Amino acid sequence: MSNKIITRNPFSGEVLKEYALFNDEEIKSILHTSDNVFNEWKKKPLKNRVKLLNKLADILHDQKVKYANLISQEMGKPYKESISEIEKCISLIEFYEKNAEMFLADELIKTDARESFISYDPLGCILAIMPWNYPFWQVMRFAVPTITAGNTVLLKHANNVTGCALVIQDLFKEAGYPKGCFQNVLATHEQVEEIITNDLVKAVSLTGSEKAGRAIAKVAGNSLKKTVLELGGNNACIIWNDADLDKYLQVIVKARFQNAGQSCIAAKRFIVEDEIYDLFLEKFKKALKNIKIGDPLHSETELATLARIDLAEGVEHQVTESIKKGARVVVGNKRDKAFFEPTILTDVTPGMPVFDEEVFGPVAAIIRAKDKEHSIQLASESNYGLGTMLFTENIDKAKKEITKIEDGAFFINEMVKSDPRLPFGGTKASGYGRELSKEGILEFVNKKTVYIK
Ligand code: NAP
Repeated sequence: MSNKIITRNPFSGEVLKEYALFNDEEIKSILHTSDNVFNEWKKKPLKNRVKLLNKLADILHDQKVKYANLISQEMGKPYKESISEIEKCISLIEFYEKNAEMFLADELIKTDARESFISYDPLGCILAIMPWNYPFWQVMRFAVPTITAGNTVLLKHANNVTGCALVIQDLFKEAGYPKGCFQNVLATHEQVEEIITNDLVKAVSLTGSEKAGRAIAKVAGNSLKKTVLELGGNNACIIWNDADLDKYLQVIVKARFQNAGQSCIAAKRFIVEDEIYDLFLEKFKKALKNIKIGDPLHSETELATLARIDLAEGVEHQVTESIKKGARVVVGNKRDKAFFEPTILTDVTPGMPVFDEEVFGPVAAIIRAKDKEHSIQLASESNYGLGTMLFTENIDKAKKEITKIEDGAFFINEMVKSDPRLPFGGTKASGYGRELSKEGILEFVNKKTVYIK
């Protein structure tokens, strides 16, 4: 394997930068720094750790345009969406600035003891392995609560967004965090395995594919280290006959085509009840025509390119194989290098890649359901369990389905989306553990029982 990383603008193909991977000595030194800094950082009063969040948010705010441009250059996200990503990071920081002290306060529990409580102590150096699709958001939603809780962080970011990784490291330094609180490791997969098994690393958080999840969990499990796994998804978007399409169509379109479909929680399988099927398809097709396609750096662009050519080839393969099994192309299905046209496939059934697998691109698989019960049954027919969305005007009936949905989230009349105030995570092959909210900040702490007789 080459000892350097080359980043490229996926829209133009232009090489952006080259970075040298770290050698084993450099990684060893980074690990020791992380541990040394942890031993000081954990002693800082929580109030002082929380104070730094304000500066972190300020810098993000001031540098929004620069960071958004970098995201769009490295992974092709439309500029408008890159700006939203930075703004979302700011709202996350503000949320923990307001609530971290409450979440991490000792929790008194009445027992026979004179005093008994849970204290939340940091664990040490936590390794984060992160994907490219939301290169700031995925890192910040892990790092902000984890560092605030008193841990230090090492980031192995996806290679194609190395520029973002370096800028995030600078961001923490500039905000006044001790140097070494947040460090990048530019490492091969083999080196990452070694890092996980090193005694100085206490736990691992991975956001990425199911395949990476299985590989990382195996190594971490063997070393008895905790993992939080935020993996792929194949969310169903159920449309019942009484759905208000005029009101929600734009939400439904965004649920699939935002970030060129490269979102774990995107709507991937559209399960439409028989009576509304034709009307839905007609409106959905029309809406697709209005999506503004273009250069990710242009402020008007709504859909640009996928993040790499190999990813677009993968999507093309999944579509081609599904067509061989009977799926019908209604719109799209053209690839040009890393660009994949927004695509609608109908006549999709279980057994086709676009039904069974996660399709990480702008492809909507439309499935016809006989009735409501059939729609719920089809939605559950997935190895993944990130989220389900249901569009209907009958909220009472929809609420009766809550217990049948095995996913980490169930959204009614809204696309599945993350919110700092709510826990986020999956079940089944979508992983385990939760990020965001109180749940997220308590993932990498020792929940210590204290008992005083
Ligand atoms: P990926 O190929 O699994 O890569 C994710 C990260 O893991 C990258 O940093 C990658 O590094 C690293 N990695 C992969 N295999 C590894 C191994 N064996 N050892 C060490 N590191 C390894 O996923 P991706 O293509 O970047 O991202 C898309 C996937 O992420 C989709 O499945 C998506 O659904 C999922 N995702 C999930 C969530 C969630 O919250 N549940 C959010 C966003 C994305 P390299 O770049 O060096 O390969």
